[in-house]
Amino acid sequence: MGKRGRAQANSGELDLSVDAQPPAPEYMKGPLGIKRRKRIPFSQRERLGHETPGTVLRGPPITVDCECGEQIDLQYGDRWTCPSCERVYDTNKIPRDQYEKIRKLQFRFRLLPVALGLASISLAIFFTLSGNVFAVFVLLPSVLVVWFMLLRPPHRRRFHQAMQDMPSWDLRAEAQ
Ligand SMILES: [Zn+2]
Repeated sequence: MGKRGRAQANSGELDLSVDAQPPAPEYMKGPLGIKRRKRIPFSQRERLGHETPGTVLRGPPITVDCECGEQIDLQYGDRWTCPSCERVYDTNKIPRDQYEKIRKLQFRFRLLPVALGLASISLAIFFTLSGNVFAVFVLLPSVLVVWFMLLRPPHRRRFHQAMQDMPSWDLRAEAQ
């Protein structure tokens, strides 16, 4: 007794945090017989950083630490049976309003890079169409440099600070 499963929404980008996890542990668990939703098309698409497929549309994954030490990233609403000890966890037990708060926070922080990307693409298209292809070769690297050197570090810092104020939950295994 005493120990208990824990669940925590992860940002998909929290690789700098103290409790950083090895990347994509769920892929190593495939052969253990977990029922996985069809993620193959998502995992084949280009991934941004350490983002888990589906994060943008479906909300951030919830990391569940089983009492036995197994760990998995679930989507909100998923039920999961631990392959090692057969405890059952149901993420629907997490208060939806709390999860929504986290989802909205992540969405807000995603707007800046998305807006920057769309603006760059629009400019690139504009320059291309107006015959100024050379400008595109200057523009795109500049945007990348500005983003990674100037904008992203403080943006990430604010995001991690905001995430630290967010709750984690004790998710009890269901009685079988
Ligand atoms: Zn377990």
